[in-house]
Formats: sequence, structure tokens, C-alpha cells
Amino acid sequence: MALDQDQKQDVVDYLQKHVQGGCTACGGDIRIEDHLVMPQMLEDGNTQMGAGIPSVVATCEDCGKMQLFAANVVGIDPQNA
Ligand SMILES: [Zn+2]
Repeated sequence: MALDQDQKQDVVDYLQKHVQGGCTACGGDIRIEDHLVMPQMLEDGNTQMGAGIPSVVATCEDCGKMQLFAANVVGIDPQNA
């Protein structure tokens, strides 16, 4: 699940419209990581692999804070990433 440059630009455009001020911790510039990640949903302490949410990672270039955005909400089809 890797993003090409057009997909990464689509995410940047989305974030510029919906997330004000860059990094939510320090206001620094963020970059979009090349690959999607998928946090797993856990229920009742069960640590077995379960359903997940394909997510885009935005990393602050100043403080390193990482933010996750649901891929389908920011315009990325996980099947084509
Ligand atoms: Zn930051």
C-alpha cells in the first residue's frame, strides 16, 4: 500500500482545506508518508488481528508527531494505494 505523488498531493490538498496550521502540536510543516498503515481494532482486550482502518500518516518535520487520517475520508482508495 504505497502512495504515488498524485495521491500524496491529494492528501496535502485535503489537509490544507481541513486541518489548519500544520502540526497540531507545534504548528510545524508536515509530510505525507509513502505507505498507508492500518491500526487494528481490538475488542474486550482481545489482541488477535481484527478489522482495521487504512490510514494515511502525516508526520511533523519539526517535532515528529505523527497523525493518522482515514484514507477513504482524505480521498485515497486503499485498493489503489
Ligand atoms: Zn510538530
